[in-house]
Amino acid sequence: MRNHSKILLIYTGGTIGMIKDFETGALRPFNFDELLHSIPELKLLDHEIETVSFEEPMDSSNMNPEYYKEIATIIEENYEIYDGFVVLHGSDTMSYSASALSFMFENLSKPIIYTGSQLPIGDLRTDAKENLITSIQLAGLKKNGKNVIAEVGLYFEYKLYRANRTTKINAEHFQAFNSLNYPALAESGVHLEVNEPMLKKANRRKKLIVHKELDNNIMILKLFPGINENIIHQLISTKGLKGIIMETYGSGNACDEDWFINLLQEAMENGIFIVNVTQCIGGSVVMGHYATSTRLEKIGVISGKDITTESAVAKMMYLLPKELSPKVFKTIFETSLRGEML
Ligand code: ASP
Repeated sequence: MRNHSKILLIYTGGTIGMIKDFETGALRPFNFDELLHSIPELKLLDHEIETVSFEEPMDSSNMNPEYYKEIATIIEENYEIYDGFVVLHGSDTMSYSASALSFMFENLSKPIIYTGSQLPIGDLRTDAKENLITSIQLAGLKKNGKNVIAEVGLYFEYKLYRANRTTKINAEHFQAFNSLNYPALAESGVHLEVNEPMLKKANRRKKLIVHKELDNNIMILKLFPGINENIIHQLISTKGLKGIIMETYGSGNACDEDWFINLLQEAMENGIFIVNVTQCIGGSVVMGHYATSTRLEKIGVISGKDITTESAVAKMMYLLPKELSPKVFKTIFETSLRGEML
């Protein structure tokens, strides 16, 4: 049985790929040709690793759907050649990017593991080495000759998560991500423990479809007590706006005064899709549970259930170009497509 895997490492930028110039102390992008020399531990892995880098590695704050497309194209073009893919990415917007990739790849049967780090790879106390080495190990993991992981994952600080369930929760702790509504897919300790029942099952008979069209005519509307009618009116009247991810309170509650409900209804009549997601980092939207969400349900606001905001943004970008009727859009949005919701 062949347990040796071929892994493609895709470097997009972020802290992980930086190295401290010991003369100046400044961080500079890492030369990927030197990777194997700088991390000799990689040679201990029984995998063949090849690397490809963005021409201009970037801070993930500058990521957008065009770059998601670039990452997706690299994977698509190399899909048959490699057993798994590791995407090195800035942690700031990693959950958005990895969630987007999860929707872009339908019938994925190979692992795409996103990782990054809080400290550069050259730093003495770096978290980059462990994150990178274990991500490669996970991407190359095989059982009976078949890869174990067949979905988009995010590996950080000893845990592999389903990417579209994650949120960056800390700007400085090594444990920068969490997935409160779905358990970790794997945990790295003395042993690499894979939580097999929680993994997405690959359907290898279905052909891979890569959806590269994304529509970013959307916005996130975070509610807060005292939110102003005029401002919301202006926002939802924005030309070209097609979708709103509305971050509500608790289990999907919002102000239920007439002016607010009427504005939302008006937006929906103008063809704008509105998805209700919770501001909480864990738990689910349950419209109708409180009186303050009953009117949202009545006017046909879409339930984001327990989806993260990052994943809702990605799902909206992915579904908009499909030009679905409002009824079908709502049904599909409320259905789990890639394990992103219950
Ligand atoms: N600002 C960086 C980025 O997201 C932070 C990191 O890499 O962790 O690209």
